[in-house]
Amino acid sequence: MQCTQPNCSEPAAFRYAWPWGQTGACCQGCLPGVQQNAKNLDRELAFSPVGRSERTTDRPPPPGSEELSAEVFELRSQVEGSALRIASLERENEALREKLQAAELDLAQVRSALEEAPIEDPDAGDESKVEGPPLGAAAAAPARP
Ligand SMILES: [Zn+2]
Repeated sequence: MQCTQPNCSEPAAFRYAWPWGQTGACCQGCLPGVQQNAKNLDRELAFSPVGRSERTTDRPPPPGSEELSAEVFELRSQVEGSALRIASLERENEALREKLQAAELDLAQVRSALEEAPIEDPDAGDESKVEGPPLGAAAAAPARP
């Protein structure tokens, strides 16, 4: 494995991983620059010496790492729980949005019906009729001469 820094082809001494998953490798000489980059970006870089994973496979985990992995596990399950909750809230939100759309459609229909409906009795000549025509009668009634 070689150093992935620009203009460098030294053998890599460290692997690193950015919090967003991007990984790289650098040689001893490029290490300070990479660390400075991480500092500039205000990000934590996880460094691991190249070859470490091979060497540690048959060794017990270093002290404290079990505690750490328990904590990581706990945090992961919290994240998973949050993700599930977010997903369910998103579904709920979607359902509510559909309901809202339906309600808005109803409202628009009621509004346009209200706009079309005469505010005053169109049969102005027929003032003797106090009650007015029953609902729908205006549309059903034949046009006046
Ligand atoms: Zn380098």
